[in-house]
Amino acid sequence: MKASVDKDGCIGCGLCEQICPEVFRMTDDGYAEAYNDVGDSLQESATEARDSCPVSVIDIA
Ligand code: SF4
Repeated sequence: MKASVDKDGCIGCGLCEQICPEVFRMTDDGYAEAYNDVGDSLQESATEARDSCPVSVIDIA
């Protein structure tokens, strides 16, 4: 599975990176990006990051 972040809505809170740093990281411009595929072992934490995003801009498909 792949995660994606809609940068236009991201408020740069850093929560997704804190919850699942294997998939999400903050970029120099202050937004999150998904830089890694969501493998089976990361599905739980990536889903938690998605569900915890305060502005719901993370998609996993
Ligand atoms: S949790 Fe949501 S708002 Fe916060 S940095 Fe990640 S994508 Fe952006």
